[in-house]
Amino acid sequence: MSAIDSLPPLREVIARHELSARKALGQNFILDLNLTARIARLAGDLAGVDVLEVGPGPGGLTRGLLAMGARRVLAVEKDPRCLPALAEIAAAYPGRLEVLHADALAIDPLAYLNPPIRIVANLPYNVGTELLVRWLTPPVWPPVWQSLTLMFQREVAERIVAKPGSEAYGRLALLAQWRSDARIVLSLPPEAFTPPPKVHSAVVHLTALAAPRFAADPAVLNRVVAAAFNQRRKMLRSALRGIAPDIESVLVAAGIAPTARAEEIGLEQFCALARLLKT
Ligand code: SAM
Repeated sequence: MSAIDSLPPLREVIARHELSARKALGQNFILDLNLTARIARLAGDLAGVDVLEVGPGPGGLTRGLLAMGARRVLAVEKDPRCLPALAEIAAAYPGRLEVLHADALAIDPLAYLNPPIRIVANLPYNVGTELLVRWLTPPVWPPVWQSLTLMFQREVAERIVAKPGSEAYGRLALLAQWRSDARIVLSLPPEAFTPPPKVHSAVVHLTALAAPRFAADPAVLNRVVAAAFNQRRKMLRSALRGIAPDIESVLVAAGIAPTARAEEIGLEQFCALARLLKT
């Protein structure tokens, strides 16, 4: 019996199902169920909530989410070797865990859930960033999800919560902070995982805002921010030359010094610029 449920410890599950970690799938498992329960708690109150978990692996975080009271968990896993271990968890929590054997990048798992919905994942770095961008750019806002609680390598987590003037500030910070509150809620050393990765990790919790912090057309804002940070060391009047012929006067109208650089400009000013460029 484990610390949080009546199922066997994860080391035993992994040994019995021969789940040796595969590097190609970014498999760094968390075996401490007290830690997975703690991450589940960081996702907020799960009572009455459908949770999407991407990349459950042997199910440590899945068990945390179920033990912390999630109404239902949909777990999407690419590695078929993990399915028998996940089936054991489903049997211990009748009707509350559904496992989908799929590549999370190839499907829209949110279509299978009922609001309120929270998303929780410990994913490989590249998959996590791609899904984060997808979840932050739905066709309509507010999105169907209430919050995202995602593990990243520490450096990526810092890019998500970065403020203007910092080295980490860029497109990801603006995208995340425009329509959500983003906070680093937990930092983890490599030894928290089996096998330990080369880098430190951090959990970021993002709560969807009811409306964007400042009005702007998403496509225009994205175009402006992409152009600005493509050449982040250049002055904005040069970096944005291709966006509008009279960019210098548009920058001034948005309250931005044409000689400023992208990393000095806050969200409010980028949104003002996007509004002026839309008209
Ligand atoms: N959640 C488990 C934990 O915390 O111990 C496993 C985390 S491990 C870092 C990442 C998991 O994501 C692995 O089980 C891997 O097989 C799975 N995975 C990788 N790419 C995936 C994808 N595109 N779609 C679904 N699962 C994926």
